[in-house]
Amino acid sequence: MATSTNQIVLKEAERSMTICNACRHCEGFCAVFPAMERKRVINGQDLKLLANLCHNCRACYYACPYTQPHEYNLNLPRTLSELRLATYQEFAWPSCMGFLLERNARATAFLAVLSVVFVFCFALIFQGPEILFTRHLGPGAFYTIAPYPAVVIPFSLLALGVLFLWAMGVWRFWKAIGAPFSALRDISGHIHALKDMLTLRSLGGVGRSYAAPNKTFAMARRSLHHAVFYGFVSCFLATCLAFLYEHLFGWYAPFPYYSLPVILGTLGGLGICCGSAGLFFLQNQTEEAAFSPLARRMDKAFLILVFLTSFSGLALLVFRETHAMGLLLTLHLGFVLAFFLCLPYGKFLHALYRYFALLRDIQEQRSGSSTSLHG
Ligand code: SF4
Ligand code: SF4
Repeated sequence: MATSTNQIVLKEAERSMTICNACRHCEGFCAVFPAMERKRVINGQDLKLLANLCHNCRACYYACPYTQPHEYNLNLPRTLSELRLATYQEFAWPSCMGFLLERNARATAFLAVLSVVFVFCFALIFQGPEILFTRHLGPGAFYTIAPYPAVVIPFSLLALGVLFLWAMGVWRFWKAIGAPFSALRDISGHIHALKDMLTLRSLGGVGRSYAAPNKTFAMARRSLHHAVFYGFVSCFLATCLAFLYEHLFGWYAPFPYYSLPVILGTLGGLGICCGSAGLFFLQNQTEEAAFSPLARRMDKAFLILVFLTSFSGLALLVFRETHAMGLLLTLHLGFVLAFFLCLPYGKFLHALYRYFALLRDIQEQRSGSSTSLHG
């Protein structure tokens, strides 16, 4: 069933690209069109690369005269988002876990509830209600509720597991787009791809589309993406700093409000909360037809999960000196656990595969790749 669906999606993507390659009206919007124009004939591996270069800004949808009711019935963002989802399933490792991408919203909700209940029950059983619901103050207060090894060991193992699953997926993707292993060692390509990712250059495409309605909203999407992305970076730095504080200086969390880990964590949490809430709002404002329903549900599930994760972290910061601290800490750890579990089979794959699609695209630009045979 999955194979036949992929074939249908691939056929539609091939049809769309053939029309776009003749039209070329949208060539200034994003990286997809110049990459497409470099090919004389577009095959399956090219389509998988192009689908992952797309950022779903929908600029081409608004500009296109061939969308419904035109007989071509072209809908490039939706076709590419369906193909992208199919690639995530195809490259998921182990393959049997691909179903998590097909029913991603339900899987995310289920994992979130399960993780929160698991962490809460774990704390309740091993620490007891008198510790969980008591007020704890001073350095090491968090570890009274969630002992250090019970937090650090499972989360470190989980992080290593996520990195391994990502590496397996990326390797499958890299082979499927016909790229050699040696191309992964291209340092200048990595620098360019990273620069593109950090600036979200392609999300500016909709600003260049004269036909895009609500252009301000559409451009706001880039700022909100930045808020979420740099929010994650800030929270990651806060975690690293907290680790150093504890291991180098013997200072234990919770840290003072004016300490660097707390400042970075707070800014990161606010960025993620505002960015994810804004993106969720924009999802409801944008043209439904230009989005695969499955991809839309996956995006919303991811946005809700990251919002709850950061919001529970901020609530913990505010109420950490009250009796609610134990409950909030288990809630936050539960959402963080669900977030980690969803990383290898969810929306985050977009950032991962897009990065490697950009890297390949940069390499093809340099080598002036121009030919492909039907595969
Ligand atoms: S999306 Fe439509 S307007 Fe844009 S290049 Fe393709 S066919 Fe032309
Ligand atoms: S939706 Fe945006 S990123 Fe995707 S092909 Fe169209 S213009 Fe490019």
